[in-house]
Parts: sequence; structure tokens; C-alpha cells
Amino acid sequence: MPLPLGFTGAWLDRADPLRSDAAAFAAAAAHPGARCLTLDGIDFVPGEGGGLRWEPLDPADDRALLLLGLDARGTPHFVREAAPGVRIDARSRTVMRLLPLLSGEEAALYGGARSLVDWHARHRFCAACGSPTELFRAGWGRRCGTCRAEHFPRVDPVVIMLAEHDGRVLVGRQGGFPPGFFSALAGFVEPGESLEEAVARELFEEAGIRVSNVTYVASQPWPFPSSLMIGCRAVALGAELTLDTTEIEAAMWVDKADVRAALAGDIGAPFMAPPPLAIARYLLEDWVG
Ligand SMILES: [Zn+2]
Repeated sequence: MPLPLGFTGAWLDRADPLRSDAAAFAAAAAHPGARCLTLDGIDFVPGEGGGLRWEPLDPADDRALLLLGLDARGTPHFVREAAPGVRIDARSRTVMRLLPLLSGEEAALYGGARSLVDWHARHRFCAACGSPTELFRAGWGRRCGTCRAEHFPRVDPVVIMLAEHDGRVLVGRQGGFPPGFFSALAGFVEPGESLEEAVARELFEEAGIRVSNVTYVASQPWPFPSSLMIGCRAVALGAELTLDTTEIEAAMWVDKADVRAALAGDIGAPFMAPPPLAIARYLLEDWVG
């Protein structure tokens, strides 16, 4: 059984051909069974059974429809653009608290919708000339009304990695983490570098260690607001740490017994493990086998 990865497994067909076919899009929006994901700002609103809430399209709502996709019966599923001025909280504590109510597949659907709605709210104006943009491709792009530049929803690649040395892996914590909580180190991939180079750079910058043999493990979206977490492992050439304390408050090497205790939530564990939807937890589970 493969381990579950957070925010993956959405069950909608993204229906790409429909995005550029105005007649097919209009037919989808007029479909009697079409449903719209209910959001409060960009946070989901729990349905009666605890999952996502879907409602019929409200003809009185003039916010643009963004096509999420079609279910197995061909029923179109949408989400609406946020109303202008709606406060977008990229790291909503409310939604973090509610996420465990969702199945993995629902979290994946919501994550994609959330990132998309968030992106539209931040891209009402053209990055090239500053003029207002308008939505096109059924919500999967915006076009400038003046210079015609096209803008597409962005995904920000982040490497997150376990460095291994002599039967132990490195975990660290940022100042804002809850007490006792440690995770894998991570950082944004910068222009002009490969994933392997980003892993090596981040581990040297944050922890002062040099690594070799960077390998890919798994990836998952992280919709706060639109990261793609790319999980890796690397072999550390030494264990001595020099921390960048502006980035991480503390870091330590932990062995498999330590990690198993943390994953099990044991009171005596040397640290608290990341939550189930975080790929850092997946990396630790994968490492201990
Ligand atoms: Zn423009």
C-alpha cells in the first residue's frame, strides 16, 4: 500500500479541451446538474457530512465561474472567483483546523480550487503594463485588456528534504512552529537552479552541511498559496551543523527509533512530527519504512 500524499487524488477530469471552447463552456455552465464549490473567502465551508459543500449555480451571482472539471458522469464542477475586496488569508488558521474533516481526495480538490481563486484575486492587473486583466480559458488564465499579455496560474516549486548521515536524518524547526514541533528543511527553488542544486544550497544555507546524491522521493501540492512541494533525500558529507538562525531556530539529527516515536505521537518522543497532510511526514514515514 503506498503512503497517502496530502492534497493529491482529486477525482475531477480537468477537461482541458472545454477551457478553450466557448460554446462547450456555456453548455457546461447551463448543465442542470452543474455544481459550485461553496467558499467563505477562499476557505471551504464544511458540508453537512463534514466534507466539502457543493451547491447548484446561483444565476443571481455575477462572479465569474472557474471550471474545476467534470465528474465521472460528466457533471461540471465550478468554483467562483472571489468578490473584489474579499480578504485573502494565505495561511488561514480556520482552514488548517478544518482540513482534517476532508478526505484526501476532497482536500486535493479544495486545494486546487483554493490556489486558483487566490491567484485570480492577486492578478486583477497586468504584471507587464498595469492595466486590468480579464479572465479567459474557463478560469485557467487572465489576459490583459491593453497589451494582450496572457498570464497563467502559477505554481511555486519548493524543495523539502531529509539529509541523511550515519543512520540519522536532519530535522529542524522555525521560530513560528508550535513548541516541540520539527520538520524537514525546505526552501523555494530559485531561477537558474536544478532541484538537486536547490536541495544542496538550502541545506548548506540553513544548516551548514554539504550533501551529495540528491534523490527524488515524491511531490504534492501545498495550496498556501500555490506551492509544489518536491520531496527529496540527500546524503550529508558530515554531521556538524552551522545554523542560519534567521531561518531555523533549532535542528537535530534523529534516528529511526526517534522518528517512529514521533510519528506514533509517543510522549517520550524527542520531537513532534508534522501533520498528516504535510509531505514532511510522508518523507519521515517513507524513511523509516
Ligand atoms: Zn498588459
